[in-house]
Amino acid sequence: MSKLRFDVVQDAFKKRALEVVAPASLPSKYFGELVFNREMMRKYLDIKVYEALVDCIDNGTPLDLSIADEVADGMKEWALSHGVTHITHWFQPLTEVTAEKHDSLMEYDRKGGMIESFNGKALIQQEPDASSFPSGGLRATFEARGYTAWDPTSPVFIQDDTLCIPTIFISYTGEALDYKAPLKKALKAVSDAAVPICKLFNPRVKKVISYLGWEQEYFLVDEDLYAARPDLMLTGRTLMGHASSKNQQLDDHYFGAIPTRVAAFMRDLEFEGYKLGIPLKTRHNEVAPNQFEFAPIFGECNLSNDQNQMIMNTMNRVARKHGFVVLLHEKPFAGINGSGKHNNWSLGTDTGTLLMAPGKDAKSNLQFIIFFVNVLAAVQRHNALLKASIASATNAHRLGANEAPPAIVSAFLGQAMTEVLHKLLEVPSGTPIEIAGKKGASVGIVEIPQIFLDNTDRNRTSPFAFTGNRFEFRAVGSSSNCAGAMTVLNAAVAQQLIEFKAALDKELAAGKPLDVAAMDVLKPIIRSVIDKVCFDGNGYSEEWKKEAARRGLDTETRVPEMFKAFTKPESVELFTSLGIYNLKELQARNEVKWEMYTKKIQIEARVMGRMATNHIIPAALAYQTKLLNNVKLMKDVCPETYEAQAKVALDLVRNISSLVSEITTKVDEMVEARKAANVLENEYEKATAYYAIAERLEAIRRPIDKLEEIVDNDLWPLPKYRELLFIN
Ligand code: ADP
Ligand code: MG
Repeated sequence: MSKLRFDVVQDAFKKRALEVVAPASLPSKYFGELVFNREMMRKYLDIKVYEALVDCIDNGTPLDLSIADEVADGMKEWALSHGVTHITHWFQPLTEVTAEKHDSLMEYDRKGGMIESFNGKALIQQEPDASSFPSGGLRATFEARGYTAWDPTSPVFIQDDTLCIPTIFISYTGEALDYKAPLKKALKAVSDAAVPICKLFNPRVKKVISYLGWEQEYFLVDEDLYAARPDLMLTGRTLMGHASSKNQQLDDHYFGAIPTRVAAFMRDLEFEGYKLGIPLKTRHNEVAPNQFEFAPIFGECNLSNDQNQMIMNTMNRVARKHGFVVLLHEKPFAGINGSGKHNNWSLGTDTGTLLMAPGKDAKSNLQFIIFFVNVLAAVQRHNALLKASIASATNAHRLGANEAPPAIVSAFLGQAMTEVLHKLLEVPSGTPIEIAGKKGASVGIVEIPQIFLDNTDRNRTSPFAFTGNRFEFRAVGSSSNCAGAMTVLNAAVAQQLIEFKAALDKELAAGKPLDVAAMDVLKPIIRSVIDKVCFDGNGYSEEWKKEAARRGLDTETRVPEMFKAFTKPESVELFTSLGIYNLKELQARNEVKWEMYTKKIQIEARVMGRMATNHIIPAALAYQTKLLNNVKLMKDVCPETYEAQAKVALDLVRNISSLVSEITTKVDEMVEARKAANVLENEYEKATAYYAIAERLEAIRRPIDKLEEIVDNDLWPLPKYRELLFIN
């Protein structure tokens, strides 16, 4: 066994010298070549068909089947020119990984031969036998039917030999079984709610776009080392492992030079991403060793999220070519930073105004303040729900641990915007206000300082931070589908904007000018958000936990409990009033969340039990035997003095015995706890029982990590942290 580990480490180390081949031409030459984008639509579709499709994409106008047939024809022609032989509806079930079922384009041509065939019906709708996807009981297994339906707003793309059609996934009775369908509803809701407010400032506004710019963090490990760690292979994280003597304490990895082999992987990944039309912009080392990040230029939320899913699928394929495995788990290694996926989010009008950024004049700044304050109010009201939207068995390792995000959703504004809000409160009621622009063009009462956009005092401990022209929702997990968080955020903002507009209309009807009316409605909201959700201090501190509870923010740290926020009356009201989820869907989704939680911990518990029994204890006992042989030899050779001389060995023997028996007892207890949990029928109760089992895993880990410290390095059966984290 020791030989194996030695060989694996040697092989991994040698790969550092792998040759790097750069893509041949400039990205702009091949960007989007695997996407049926507008340029390709124009090329492959008749002008009338093209216009109908664009109208469908931009304005939601339904396509009739004859047009869909022509669209399919054009797509087929384009796809065949790329060597495509198969098609799939590509969807995002609640498993958190995308799903696809490939069908060949081949059909009999009725003349004794075969032909490639694809029509509008196959484009618009498919019926995968999807009975094995989680549905929380929405689709009883005897009713296996679930439909996938084309989402024309996200372009069709090619992966290998397959034409992928982004789709929503719904049950026979119309309930959403995926992430995309509710997201699209929330995006429409926020647009519908925001447009009437924007129209007060610019009557030409017809649509408000929700933007998403995600930052994807991940770890790379060498594939040989990965293969020698059953825990990484089966659970995505290390269930055991003593900290490396050096980890991230020197901060020498963050933004450091990217290791050659990693840079080659990144270039290759970007090459694949660009071909898929994903505008990858930033790449760098992250804080922890072997941790990296990339981010695209932000885009429309639904599309940007699809692109995130596409690139997550692509990452491991590309990584394997470079001898790496990508870890998207939120906490693959204890004791060093985990991985998140900051969701940079904002709203903007179809006339090109960014609503989360201060403008140049008083009018646009009033609009900015309206949106800014209402976002804060929405986050305040639904802070528990937002937290629930990012909670999972894997993200739990970040939540509430000493790293972003804390298990309390608050908002960070920075000094400049905090002052602006305070000043707005000081303006006497009824006074027309002017909010000076960035250039200080008008002599306003309240000024947004020019330095503000470059303001860098970012608080990394805040889960929801304002960063100049957007909010960053930092609590989202690296492995999750952003749609979960984005559905809740956009819905919460939509509801708040609707209520704000109703209140504003009353004031306007009373004859007040817009700025006075707006401030009269905003002031109590500003007062409330300053007192409650806004917090610029240290989100990790113990005082903040107490303070947050006093402020009425949700401080729940247990993941199975957090999910309950989805079915609280105020959440049900939010989602049903906007038509995003009905009560049945909300309940079903929680069932799925609890079930997924349970299964993940269940797998971890099994792996932990087997590794303890089959890897760790045998290694410890082998070392113990070695030590005892040593003692025995000493006794044979120098019987008078052996006792003093063998003290070190005997102490180690005793120490190993006690650690091994601690592990054995704790594993036995954990197995018993699992047996008791497994018979529970109720998904919530089961998840709660497994929450306690997750804590037991930590307790089993402690003696194992102590053994790692004392057992002969040659006998240790698993690649250690220092090898996993520093070989690239
Ligand atoms: P940082 O790590 O400093 O937060 P990055 O450059 O890594 O910044 O990522 C910032 C992300 O935010 C990018 O995806 C960027 O396109 C996106 N972004 C910038 N402005 C906006 C905006 N107004 N709305 C949404 N996303 C934005
Ligand atoms: Mg960021």
